[in-house]
Amino acid sequence: MSMMRELYTQILMDHYRRPRNRGELENHDLQEHLLNPLCGDEVTVYARFDGDKVAEVKFTGQGCSISQASASMMAERLVGKNRQDVHKEVASFKSMMVGEEEFPEYDDLAALKGVINYPARVKCAVLAWTALQNGLEEGGS
Ligand code: ZN
Repeated sequence: MSMMRELYTQILMDHYRRPRNRGELENHDLQEHLLNPLCGDEVTVYARFDGDKVAEVKFTGQGCSISQASASMMAERLVGKNRQDVHKEVASFKSMMVGEEEFPEYDDLAALKGVINYPARVKCAVLAWTALQNGLEEGGS
């Protein structure tokens, strides 16, 4: 158990220190900024679509390791997915974060599993995902 916890911490810190897809996306179809005042996190998510598919996802922001690592994981995994699958992934991740769905094994997301024991931090973990969801619902295309 503690070995797993150590592995999860390593995955989390790796995403925090070497974030995937970090930076602004100039030719974006979607841009959404969101704050988490509880923790002081902020994130801006950008996405570019190619037809129905996500061609690129990038993010900028600052805040705790959970918020930034989760944004990095999201940006990495949603590229190439169509809108319907993106909605599904976001909904599914949010269910995981409130304990209603199992985390996938052998997946970077599992590194966030421990966060569900700290309800105040769940907002950190879902911040980027909610930003993207808001952007999609506002019809960014
Ligand atoms: Zn935070």
